[in-house]
Amino acid sequence: MSNLQTFIDQLAPISNLVPRKVDKRQIAQPSWTKRAVTIVGVKTVLTRFMPVSHEGHSNETYVDKIDLLGKTRAEFIGRKLKGIERRMHMTIVRELIANQNQGEWKSFFENNYAAPCIIPDSLCLACPNCALFGGLDAKAQMATFSRARYLDTFSVQDVTDCVGSMDNEEMGIGNQVYEDLVADKAGKKRTRGSDSFHLYEYVKAGTQFPFITIIESPTLFDVAALLHAIRRADSHGYGKYSANHGKFSTQFLALGIGYPRFSMLDMLSSADEGQQFDSKNMRFDTLGKPAVLTGDAINDVADKLNESATAYLQALK
Ligand SMILES: [Zn+2]
Repeated sequence: MSNLQTFIDQLAPISNLVPRKVDKRQIAQPSWTKRAVTIVGVKTVLTRFMPVSHEGHSNETYVDKIDLLGKTRAEFIGRKLKGIERRMHMTIVRELIANQNQGEWKSFFENNYAAPCIIPDSLCLACPNCALFGGLDAKAQMATFSRARYLDTFSVQDVTDCVGSMDNEEMGIGNQVYEDLVADKAGKKRTRGSDSFHLYEYVKAGTQFPFITIIESPTLFDVAALLHAIRRADSHGYGKYSANHGKFSTQFLALGIGYPRFSMLDMLSSADEGQQFDSKNMRFDTLGKPAVLTGDAINDVADKLNESATAYLQALK
C-alpha cells in the first residue's frame, strides 16, 4: 500500500464534520479520539512583516522578541497564524459551497448551520470552519474546542539581522492629522516631534520561521483545506496592514500521522547549525501505522480538496 494511502486511511471519517443537534441547535461534534496529523514547514517572509500581538499605543508597532538558544529572535505567535489561516479557511469553505450551490453560500449556511457565521463575533459553531477552529457563542453559553493546535514560532535569524526599524532606516510616517488637529495654547499647530511620528519595527524579507501545526481528529477535508488556507494566507499577508505587508512563502517539509516528537527548538537548532531539518529528523507519536508524507505527496493531499468537499456535502444531506 502506498504511503499516501496509509496516511489517508488513518484520517477520521468525513461524517465527523457533520454537526449534531444540541438543544435544537446545530453544533460541531467534539473530537472523539486524539488521533492527529502534524503539518511541519518553514515560512519565509517576502515583504516586510509587522507581527502585532500586543495592545500598544496607536503610533507604535514593534516586533516581539525573545532570547532563545543564544540569539534574540523575532516572535510570531500561534494566535496570529491561526487568526489569518482561519479567515482564509473560511473563504475556501464558502467558495466550495458556492461552487456547488450556484454561487449562493449564505442561504446554505443559514439552512444548514442556522447562521452565516461571521469571524470572530458571530460564529455558528456548526460549519466546517467552526468544527476545525472552534468557537464561542457567549449569548447561548455554548462553545466548541479548536482541533487545530498552533505553536508560537521564532525567527531563525537574530533580530540584529532580521528586524528593521525607524532607527536604522530613518523611517517614520509623520502623523499629519495629529499635527493639524492638535494646536497648542497659543493656537499654533504643533511642531513635528517624536509623538507625531508613527514608530515602527518590522521583520525583514528573507527571515525564516519554522512552524508546527497539529490537527486533532483530522478528516481529509480538514487537512486539504488547511494546506490551501496556508497558501492563501501567504498571499493575503499575516501582519498588521496585511493588505500590503507580511506576505510569506511556505515550504511544507512533512505531513505526519501523529503528534510530533520534536519541537520548534529542534528545528531552530538544526537551522542554526546550517542543517536542513527534514523528515529524517522527524518522529511522530502514533498508535497507528507511521506515515510521513513529503514533497509531491503533500500536494497530492491538498489536491483532494474538491473531492473531500463533495464527500462532506453528501454526508450533510
Ligand atoms: Zn461556523
